[in-house]
Amino acid sequence: MDCIFCKIVSGEIPCFKVYEDENALAFLDVAPCADGHTMVIPKKHAGAFVEMTPEEAGNLFEAVNKVSVRLMDKLENVTGLTIGANTYASAGQTVMHTHIHIFPRCEGDGGGTTHSIVNSAVSKDPEYLKKISELLTSENENV
Ligand code: AMP
Ligand code: ZN
Repeated sequence: MDCIFCKIVSGEIPCFKVYEDENALAFLDVAPCADGHTMVIPKKHAGAFVEMTPEEAGNLFEAVNKVSVRLMDKLENVTGLTIGANTYASAGQTVMHTHIHIFPRCEGDGGGTTHSIVNSAVSKDPEYLKKISELLTSENENV
């Protein structure tokens, strides 16, 4: 498969590695938005986060947790993190091998919150929110 992140996993393309375990690899983003901007990826190809099994997603987030702690412990001035995954083109995903971005943050870095990414004018009516909640829970009552 012609996937740039699979090539990083196989070693065909180099990366600046941050962390590795059996299931996940973390490396610095080649075009960082912050010092230490890191991406955590599953070693097994998955086009997007929602294409992973719950177990695979759990393994990925175990690595995200470890890398997050490492970034906060080892990088000077880092007092927070923003963590996220652009999922599919509508959300800005450009590399179709799922990856979790971790952006180290510090006071006054000029960055926004996750709320600044998407803030459409949608209804806040509790009845409407209830309907969405009911729709989302209706077929997965055991989850
Ligand atoms: P996204 O828009 O969420 O799909 O982000 C893709 C990210 O991959 C971007 O931030 C790119 O800078 C990064 N990227 C692309 N190629 C490489 C590479 N070879 N090594 C490290 N990061 C890369
Ligand atoms: Zn891949």
